[in-house]
Amino acid sequence: MIGGTVARVPPLSGELTSSWLFRLAQAHGETPHGLAKFIWGEGSPWTRDLDRSLSNKQLDAIARFARTHASRATDTSLLAAESQSAGDDRKRAIAPGILAVGVHHRTRRLHGQQVCPDCLSQDKAPHLRRTWRLAFVFACVRHDRLLRDACSACDSPISAYRPSDVPLTHCGECGTSLTRGERVRCDPTTISTQKQLLQALHTNRFMSGALNAPFADWLAGLRVMFGAAARDNGTPGLWQDDAATLVGRGPQHPQLEKSRVERRAQGLRAVVSLSTEWPNRFILRARQCDLTQGMVIHPRRSGVPTWLAEVVRAELRPSRKRVKKIYKPPKQRANKRKALAHPDASKRISERLDRVLGARSR
Ligand SMILES: [Zn+2]
Ligand SMILES: [Zn+2]
Repeated sequence: MIGGTVARVPPLSGELTSSWLFRLAQAHGETPHGLAKFIWGEGSPWTRDLDRSLSNKQLDAIARFARTHASRATDTSLLAAESQSAGDDRKRAIAPGILAVGVHHRTRRLHGQQVCPDCLSQDKAPHLRRTWRLAFVFACVRHDRLLRDACSACDSPISAYRPSDVPLTHCGECGTSLTRGERVRCDPTTISTQKQLLQALHTNRFMSGALNAPFADWLAGLRVMFGAAARDNGTPGLWQDDAATLVGRGPQHPQLEKSRVERRAQGLRAVVSLSTEWPNRFILRARQCDLTQGMVIHPRRSGVPTWLAEVVRAELRPSRKRVKKIYKPPKQRANKRKALAHPDASKRISERLDRVLGARSR
C-alpha cells in the first residue's frame, strides 16, 4: 500500500510511461488503477492512450511521486516522438507514425503495443520500450526477429495495464508467457528496411534519387503508398499483386497505424523500396499495374506530401470521372406515371374508385 516510504523507481532508458507506471504500482503493492488514483485523483488515464495523452503537468506529478527529475518523466511519453514523425499533423485521433491502441474502458482493442519477447526475457527489470509503439518499427534488430503484437495463446493486444502480480513478460489477459509461440525471423531486407527507417528518424532526413525530405514528410508519403495495397476485387496495388497474397485480412485502404505487425513489415518493406531511386521505381511499378491517380491517392485523402503528389499527377493517368446516373424509374412504374399524367387521369381514377367502392352517389 502507498504511504510510509516511497520506493525509488526511476524510469529506465527508453521506457514507455505506461510501463513505468505499472512498475511503480507493482513496487508499492498497488493496482495500476489505484496508483493512478493516488497520483492524479479521479479520472483514470488508463481509460485513454496514456502514453500519448498525459500532459506535462500530469507527467510532473509522477516524477514528484517517484522522486525523479521531471525531464525523465517527459522522456517516457510519446509526445516527442509524435511531433517528430507527424510534423504539422499532430493532435489527431490517429497520430501519424504512432500505433493506435483503441482503448475501450481500460482494455485495448487494437494491437498497437509491440514487444520483443527476447528483449523482455533478458531485461533485469522487464519494461516496454517507446520504440515498440512506433508504426514504422516492426523488427528487433538486436534479436533479428519480428516483434510480437499479441499474446500467442489468446491473441489479446498487449498492454501494461494488468493485475499487479502478472509481470510484463506475460499476457495481462491469460497469463501466458510472451516468449511462447513461434519466433518469426526476419530476412535481411526486412532488417535493412527497419535500419533505414530508424536512421532517417535519427537524422531527420531521407535522401534517394530526386527525393530529399525531412522524416515526417517521407513518412507521410509512405503512409499514402501503404494505403494503396491490392484491392479485394483482385486488382493489383502499389505493393501487392493480389489481395490473396496480403498477410492478414484488412480494409481496401489499410491504415499504417491500425495494421498488424506482419502486414506493416510486408507493406513498409515494399513502399520504402519504391521510394528509393525516386521516382523511377515508383513510376515503373505504377505503370506495370496500370494504376490511376485515384488508386494511389484516395480523392478524400489529406496530408499528401508534394514530392509524391507531383509525381502521381504528372506520371499516372487520371481516374475515370464518375458519371452521375440520372434516376430512371422501372418500366412498370413509368407507365403508371404516364397514365396518371394523362388529361383524363382524374376521371379514370374516379372510375376506378367507383369500381372498388361500388357505385357512389354523385
Ligand atoms: Zn529484442
Ligand atoms: Zn493471452
